[in-house]
Amino acid sequence: MSRKVIIAGNWKMNKNAAEGKALVDELKAICSNCCCCCEADVVVCPPFTTIATVVEAVKGTAIKVGAQNIHWADNGAFTGEISGDMLKSAGVEYVIIGHSERRQYFGETDATVNARLKAALKYDLIPIVCVGELLDERENGKTEEVLTRQIRGGFEGISADEMAKTIVAYEPVWAIGTGKTATPDIAQAAHAHIRKEIAGMFGSDVAEKVRIQYGGSMKPDNARELVAQKDIDGGLIGGAALKAASFAGLVKEALGK
Ligand code: PEP
Repeated sequence: MSRKVIIAGNWKMNKNAAEGKALVDELKAICSNCCCCCEADVVVCPPFTTIATVVEAVKGTAIKVGAQNIHWADNGAFTGEISGDMLKSAGVEYVIIGHSERRQYFGETDATVNARLKAALKYDLIPIVCVGELLDERENGKTEEVLTRQIRGGFEGISADEMAKTIVAYEPVWAIGTGKTATPDIAQAAHAHIRKEIAGMFGSDVAEKVRIQYGGSMKPDNARELVAQKDIDGGLIGGAALKAASFAGLVKEALGK
């Protein structure tokens, strides 16, 4: 089965509205003479306050907009939070859930990931659910155990159809923002394990449809080899998404061009 490559840029807490627009304008200029953004799904995920400007800036292009978090409630007394309805009405199509920085600094657990995932699905947003092990978990041979726990907890109680449209991002925490990329073999082994777990929960047809991105110091010069692996269907990109040339170059490499 061939799965469409998906590259998403997570801008994290970078780029105010003017800077976000400038980045998208540069991307559009680079992309005007190629069709990489049509051959792959290309998503940019700005901070909440930059979303409206970026939604406007990508109009007329194939670039999609994602958010970096979603609350599980529809509305109410949740100071500082943003609901699925708010994201949807702002023109957002994707949402990152359970990024390791949220697990590490903001108390995100598999149970809250699951609640946010259900909210995203309810509002017809495409979830990008992040999983991945810490360095000491890898060094102690616990990678598969951690991934299994995150997948079973994170995806509990959703339907097979919902799983099929959900995107998973495998992000080994030791590779995020460190310049240490997982080798293609290490990444492929983790992706294969994730797909096997999804097959166990939802069946192998669904598992074959689910797109699994790699994230962790992915750049133009390693994207091609990573995405060439059987179970790697794209990337979730941090640092290299903050400059138009590297993000566009990475999309091109991931497509093998
Ligand atoms: C990320 O934070 O999702 C990420 C992959 O970051 P970087 O590409 O900078 O390692």
